[in-house]
Amino acid sequence: MITIDGSYGEGGGQILRTSLALSLVTGKPFSIRNIRAGRKKPGLMRQHLTAVNAAAEIGLAAIEGNRIGSQAFTFEPETIKPGNFHFAIGSAGSCTLVFQTILPALLIAGEPTEIILEGGTHNPFAPPFDFLEKAFLPVINRMGPRVDAVLEKPGFYPAGGGRFRVSVNPADLNRFDLLERGNIINKTARACVANLPVNIANRELEVIHEKLEWDRELLKAVEVENSQGPGNILTVEVESDNITEVFTGFGEKGVSAEKVARRAVKSVQEYLAFNVPMGRYLADQLLIPMALAGGGKFRTFSPTKHTTTNAEIIKKFIDVEIEMNECSLNQWEIEIWNG
Ligand code: AMP
Repeated sequence: MITIDGSYGEGGGQILRTSLALSLVTGKPFSIRNIRAGRKKPGLMRQHLTAVNAAAEIGLAAIEGNRIGSQAFTFEPETIKPGNFHFAIGSAGSCTLVFQTILPALLIAGEPTEIILEGGTHNPFAPPFDFLEKAFLPVINRMGPRVDAVLEKPGFYPAGGGRFRVSVNPADLNRFDLLERGNIINKTARACVANLPVNIANRELEVIHEKLEWDRELLKAVEVENSQGPGNILTVEVESDNITEVFTGFGEKGVSAEKVARRAVKSVQEYLAFNVPMGRYLADQLLIPMALAGGGKFRTFSPTKHTTTNAEIIKKFIDVEIEMNECSLNQWEIEIWNG
């Protein structure tokens, strides 16, 4: 049995999600301890427990220790069972992270899968739905499978209550290489408010207009009608010849609209200043599919702790080499190949 120390490196939920994902894919059982030891509230929170239970349902796995607050569990999968699933977190915990836990197994399953996920869809410190739809899934689809996600209802922290549907049509995964982003062909910013004054969205877009000097016709304010609670999100999309990247500002109580927008602007400015195709989040999230494809190579910024930690956990389950080299100022090349 593979043993995983959840306090390793970044010390967060990604270690357990990657372990679950790759245990399902490889059929290798694992035990994990010190779960989320690096976080203020360690152990399994609702979102992580939902990920564990979802993986167990798909893998017909035997599990021990799957309780809220648990800091250790063992997981022994039997198979990969595609089909129809419905996973509800029961809090505003991130549905996109639960989805990313089970996706790798479903990408290579023999049959298609349909999933409904309920909980948070736009959470700080997690991929917001728009990032999943516009940045992450298009890369997965270029690797062979066909995955489509539809947002039915947004769920913002702390009320949650969001829902999205996904259909997964599996296929062999092809390696993915991306060294140049090409020319920028489209730029848009969308500021959404739910149960909050639209003026918040307009102020955020004004910051984009001023700081990035983007024409007003590229900017859109949206009032979301069907949200359970209040929420605000600023999504900035940069579409290039070879990739689309999405940058997000999360509205927070006590943080001005201008500050939320300035945070997103900073990431966009950095991306535009350096000619890397992939931002930091895509970099850590694409390591698993690329490892399953047996290889790939891409350029990004300096690897985050999420990226380096993920690489080490992946190597515990799959025989791959992952190399990260700085090729020029703030430009790194990450390469994965079969060991
Ligand atoms: P963890 O902190 O271990 O739960 O992992 C968080 C995950 O969410 C990582 O895979 C990050 O790449 C991802 N993530 C965090 N913030 C964003 C964001 N703004 N956009 C896209 N992905 C994000």
